[in-house]
Amino acid sequence: MERDDGESRVAASPDTVKKLTGLGANVTVEAGAGERSRVTDDAFKAAGAAIGTSKDASDADIVLKVRRPSPEELKTYKSGAAVIATMDPYGRDEEVKAMAEAGILAFAMEFMPRITRAQSMDVLSSQANLAGYQAVVDAAYEFDRAFPMMMTAAGTVPAARVFVMGAGVAGLQAIATAKRLGAAVTATDVRPAAKEQVESLGGKFIAVEDEEFKAAETAGGYAKEMSKEYQAKQAELVASHIAKQDIVITTALIPGRPAPRLVSKAMVESMKPGSIVVDLAVERGGNVEGAEAGKVVQMGPAKIVGHLNVPGRIAASASLLYAKNLSSFLETMIDKETKALKIDFEDPLVQATLLTRDGKVVHPNFAKEPA
Ligand code: NAD
Repeated sequence: MERDDGESRVAASPDTVKKLTGLGANVTVEAGAGERSRVTDDAFKAAGAAIGTSKDASDADIVLKVRRPSPEELKTYKSGAAVIATMDPYGRDEEVKAMAEAGILAFAMEFMPRITRAQSMDVLSSQANLAGYQAVVDAAYEFDRAFPMMMTAAGTVPAARVFVMGAGVAGLQAIATAKRLGAAVTATDVRPAAKEQVESLGGKFIAVEDEEFKAAETAGGYAKEMSKEYQAKQAELVASHIAKQDIVITTALIPGRPAPRLVSKAMVESMKPGSIVVDLAVERGGNVEGAEAGKVVQMGPAKIVGHLNVPGRIAASASLLYAKNLSSFLETMIDKETKALKIDFEDPLVQATLLTRDGKVVHPNFAKEPA
């Protein structure tokens, strides 16, 4: 069970328990672990799991979790146990060191390479997709007008104008969801490839399309940090656009860096009364000036929504997909014949995600000396 009060997800589902027991594993689920994701102990039991307590973790060869283990949890794991979770390790050197000292094999699922073979293990995508959906639902909840245009005998309700900033996995799902609700949707991103994707979902693309923009994508398909000049030009375009929007949803992230600041206080204040801004990047420092993590705040005419752990707001669905991501990864580590855990440390998926091994921090992004 997750120790963080804000975490409502669970790292296993009846489906993944069935799958893992089928592969030869003895699965124990902590009593109540699925409660906040609407999975009962009975459902886990019916799928083949034993129901246990946190003490059972001390016998486990493999521990599946949503979040990085707490110091107390680390003390309970046996040395050499594989712990698979989202480790959120940037800026957490002490916590990463503690995992090394506990002697565990700590796997950070968020470092799963985005290659075809690992698509079913991509927790960033599975969770961002749901967060993008939920951001629109949260915006609609706070908004006191309708999303679709409605032509009625009593008059016409105009379509809501929704602007999505950052068109990665979360942004594209936000665009699709807002379109399904009938909004007029525009979107922006610094990656040129995003333009076609936005348009294919029926959104209109808004960006300064200069030479820098055309080259603004890393080989891995992520955003680059843009020059000051580009940012200024883009901010001007965005500022005039935002003033005309009802809803702005921001999703912009740059791996390993704080989220880029895209929406200033002045931009929020230029919006119409009753406007809504949802900042999905609030946990990474926020795209929106004045957004507060875990709060909905009023800033002039607009409400700024800064919910934490947005996938956790849709926990039953998020857990289902997260659990599947983990079991797909684990499947690659179980020997089909002997049914034992057999980790191939040369496997690129293992190399990309393994943070600690044999008491050392081994991941190149965190190891002080070369691994
Ligand atoms: P992300 O969560 O790192 O960032 C969200 C979006 O914000 C990105 O599209 C990024 O370009 C954008 N952004 C960053 N700075 C910005 C700024 N200043 N202004 C506007 N937008 C800004 O991204 P992600 O959702 O993880 O996706 C990153 C890339 O990975 C995309 O190209 C996506 O298509 C790709 N991807 C590939 C696979 C795969 O091949 N298996 C799976 C998932 C995602």
